[in-house]
Amino acid sequence: MSAMPSHFEAVCPNCLVGLRVPLSYSGCNVLCNHCEHKFRVFGPDHLATPNRTLASAEQAHGDERSRLDEQHHQAREELESARSEIRVLQARLSELLDLRDQLKAELEAQRSRHAEQIAEHHARAEANAHLVERLKAEILTIAQSRSAPDADLEAAREEIADLRAKLADTESTKRSMSSLLEGMGIRLH
Ligand SMILES: [Zn+2]
Repeated sequence: MSAMPSHFEAVCPNCLVGLRVPLSYSGCNVLCNHCEHKFRVFGPDHLATPNRTLASAEQAHGDERSRLDEQHHQAREELESARSEIRVLQARLSELLDLRDQLKAELEAQRSRHAEQIAEHHARAEANAHLVERLKAEILTIAQSRSAPDADLEAAREEIADLRAKLADTESTKRSMSSLLEGMGIRLH
């Protein structure tokens, strides 16, 4: 069994004297006992230093990796949430498109109903106009047929009045002639 060495030998780069340095000083700056030159010493375990560097590099790498994993995880969650939002929005969009189609169809139906009503209204108005024309013509005919007898009646009345006047005139002539003849002793029958 050999005990772990507690010191190692370092050579001063200035005066080239060998120095006994405690292991714990490895990697540290020391002062040479002989020339007081300051330099850094490395013990036999100095390879551990790069190992530690490697270890810390691995540690850093691991940290970086878990940081990236975390970022990756967050990104995936955000992506999943964005995707579910997209699904919701697509569903909503689809509903709105359906609604729009329904409204379009309804509007189209209303337009065609409206057009039918307008056509019907026009047809009825035209029929009414024809009826009015016909009634006007009938009224005119009636008025004309009424005025014709009136005119005839008037003419007949005038004729009657004329005849009565002639009759009265004749009566009066007859009376005066009769009295004249009576005066002459002639009696008329
Ligand atoms: Zn020295």
